[in-house]
Formats: sequence, C-alpha cells, structure tokens
Amino acid sequence: TASTWAARALMARRKAVVGRHSPMFYDEPLHVTSGQGVWLRGTDGIDYLDAYNNVPHVGHCNPVVVRAIADQAALLNVHTRYLHEPVVEYAEALLATFDPRLDKVLFTNSGSESNELALRIARQHTGNTGIVVTDFSYHGNTTSLAELTTGLRVKERLGPHVRALRTPDLDADERPVEDVLDEALDQVAAALASLKAAGHGVSAFLFDPLFSTEGLLRTPPGYVEAVATMIRAAGGLVIADEVQSGLGRSGSRFWGHELYDIAPDLVTLGKPLGNGHPVGGVVTTTELLEEFGTDNLYFNTFAGNPVSAAAGLAVLREMADRELQRNAWDVGARARELLEKLVEHRPHVKALRGKGLFFGLEFVDGNGQPGTAQAKWVVENMRRRGVLISRIGPHDNVLKIRPPMIFEPEHVDLLVERLTTSLDDLETTEAHEHAASPASATGNGRKARVNSPLRTGLFIDGKWRSNSKKFDVMNPADGSLAARVSAGG
Ligand code: PMP
Repeated sequence: TASTWAARALMARRKAVVGRHSPMFYDEPLHVTSGQGVWLRGTDGIDYLDAYNNVPHVGHCNPVVVRAIADQAALLNVHTRYLHEPVVEYAEALLATFDPRLDKVLFTNSGSESNELALRIARQHTGNTGIVVTDFSYHGNTTSLAELTTGLRVKERLGPHVRALRTPDLDADERPVEDVLDEALDQVAAALASLKAAGHGVSAFLFDPLFSTEGLLRTPPGYVEAVATMIRAAGGLVIADEVQSGLGRSGSRFWGHELYDIAPDLVTLGKPLGNGHPVGGVVTTTELLEEFGTDNLYFNTFAGNPVSAAAGLAVLREMADRELQRNAWDVGARARELLEKLVEHRPHVKALRGKGLFFGLEFVDGNGQPGTAQAKWVVENMRRRGVLISRIGPHDNVLKIRPPMIFEPEHVDLLVERLTTSLDDLETTEAHEHAASPASATGNGRKARVNSPLRTGLFIDGKWRSNSKKFDVMNPADGSLAARVSAGG
C-alpha cells in the first residue's frame, strides 16, 4: 500500500542518519502519527490498540499532562539551581507515596541515570565495589550499567565486580519449592563469597521487583527477602529498580518492592513518571543522602526541572483522580481470567506470568521447547490485527503485555479476541511466513472519561485502607487542590 511504501522510504532516510542498529519493533516498522489514550494512529489509517507501552502510563497525550507541561513551559523552565515551587511540590507528592523511611529524592532524566546514581551512593556508603544482579536483567545503557547487563545484547563482558544470579522461577521449575529456594540461596552465598575473595565485597543487590526483562519470573515466597538479608549481612545495600514495576503497575501495591517484606535502601525510577517527558529519580533515606551529599556535589542540569516536575505532578494527579492502581487491579483481574483460558486450551501457551496490568504469556513449540518463533509470529500477526504487544525473556518467547494504566475491560476483550484469532491461525498453519490478511481494529472503543471521586488511603490487594499520611497535590496553574495522594507507612 501507499502507506507501506511511505514507511519504507522513511526507514531508508532513518537508516541513512542513525544507522541500522537503533532497534525498532516489527519486520515492517510501524509508522505512527498520533496517539490518544490507549490508541496509536498509523499512517495506514488504523487505530492500533496499545497493549505494550508503559511510558504513556496515564494514556497517550493525556490532556491533563499535556496541559500541565504546556502551562509550565509557558511560565518558566530553567535548570535546577533556582528555587521554584512546583519542583518542591513534586518531590513532596512523590515521596508521599513511599514509606516515610524513604524521605529524600534526587531527580534524574532516565532510568539509567537513576541506577547509575544509586550504585554510586551504595559504593560510597559501603566502601565496596561488588554488585549482585539477576541473570537476563537490564538496568540501563551507561558504561557501568552495560557491565552488569545480562538481558540485552551488549558486547561488554560482565564486570569483574559483577555477579549475576539465576533467578528461581516456579513456573519453569517443577521441583519442590524448598529445593528451588535452597539452590537459589546457595547461589547467592556463592556469589557473595566470590566477590569477597576477589576483594570487591558487595555494595548492592540491584533488582527489578517484577523481574520484567527476565520474563516476569515467579520466585519462591521468601526468596527476595532472603537475598536482601544475605546482602545486608555481607555489608551491601538493596536497590529496587522500579523503572518498570512502579506507579501501581502491579495493581496490588503502588511500588513493586512493596510486594515483598523488604525495606530497600534505594529505589530507582524512570519510564512512566512523566508519561513520556523524561523524568526519573532515586528515592532514599536521609541518612544515605546526607552521607553521599557531604562528599559529593550532585548536580544534574535538566533533572527535575519545572516542566518535568509539572509532568510528574500531573501523572500523580491522574493516578489518584482516576484510581489507576485500582484500575490495574480490576482490569488486570479480568485479563488474567481470560488469558488463563489460553493457557488451558492452547498448545503453544504454557504459562501466564505477571501481576496487575503486566502480563507475560510463555510460548512453547511443538516439542515443549521455548517457542521463540511462535511468539514472534504472534507479535507480528497481532500488529496486522491492530494490537501492539512485544516479547521478553531469555528466549524471547514470552509475550509482553503491559498496556497504559487506563486500559478498560473492553480493551481487554479486544486484545483477547485478537489473540485468540491469532492463535487459531498459528495452530492451523504453524508457518512463520503466514500472510494473514490485515484486519483493521474495530472502532476505537474510546469512552468519555468518568471522573471518579478523589480517594484517600492506600489501595492494597484490591481494597482501600485508610492511611494517616496524605498529601495534597495542588494545581500549579491556579493553586487549587488537584488531588490527594496517599503516603505509605
Ligand atoms: N531499568 C529497567 C528495569 C528498565 O526496564 C530500563 C529500560 N528498559 C532501564 C532501567 C533503563 O531506563 P532508561 O532507558 O530510561 O535509561
């Protein structure tokens, strides 16, 4: 079609200026022109259902966020060495969502910067250089993070100060849970011993509470707690990388680390914070920040600038106003129910993983081996059916479904309907070059936004709990009360 040729021409221009290695999704890259809510419009005229993106956390081009960014940009944007109220307001509102122990934030512009800074703080505090991560994880693109990346293609070898743990996964291991746990903790002990023997010691355990890049693994109960205890006993700190798991994604908790009985020393943030505007941060304790700040001047030109702060505040406001953590819980439950049926009835779908509005569907081939080709086929086929998803895991055989938090039941139904048809096709043909005729997405399913009453308290495992610490988020434009955000504790 004309739009396909136009996309190819643009691809050729892109390749000429950025080279051929900047990754893009799909065999034929998707050429999009605009976004709205859970929809991305292609140049082919199709509205694609976005069941993949967590950066537009509160929806593509969310009007509240867009307005906040535009208003602030029209008023003032400047680096961070002047006093400006919305910046402080955002820090207060963000911290109010954490346990009161975690009462300081340093802003950054990305997840990579956040992890880089957290590791620096841990190294300074502990005097050690060793880092423990999980196998097939990803934490960012800087020099030192490339040295601990095991989950994406990078040429750097693991740093000599890095040890990667094979994360236990109850969906893949049929042994008794205690055996799985024992073996996993033996690995932690071995990693710590080898870091000690090599003279590195341990500065930190850096992990993603949902083990997202790893393929949304289901660890034995008590595993994360035990690792944290062992790391601490060896003198290290615990860093929760919430770049993917944060801001209510799991449905049952606002932050991913709250799924476990641990108290992380540092929490790193990125992706969804600014709904696409680059906002990240490191949340930590007063003690750690004092210690780090005494010896180090941390200055970051753009991080937490007034426009970023306005974007971040607007995202928190939308989260509270529209009860989006609760939405992840409710809509996620519906999706889980329907996706479970695929596990029961479809030969290629082995397991459903994930929490809240974040799912992994593990694929196997006809011999029970990782179904990498089948998963890829379905991702491509779903795109032709107007639905965007992707893949994760060491074998890239786990479908990654992680839509914006405003996903509604009707979007779940559309997603599952298309997935079902796609699996029908896969089962019938089992051919990778299958040329399914493109189906356009039906309708756009958009609904008028319903204003939910402002709620106070914490939403935990499907219920609101009252909470003593609440925080008012003021509208930067006119100072009116925009939302009331609840604190942990
Ligand atoms: N941590 C995790 C868990 C991530 O998924 C990512 C990005 N995929 C990063 C860190 C790096 O974030 P950024 O690309 O914003 O630097």
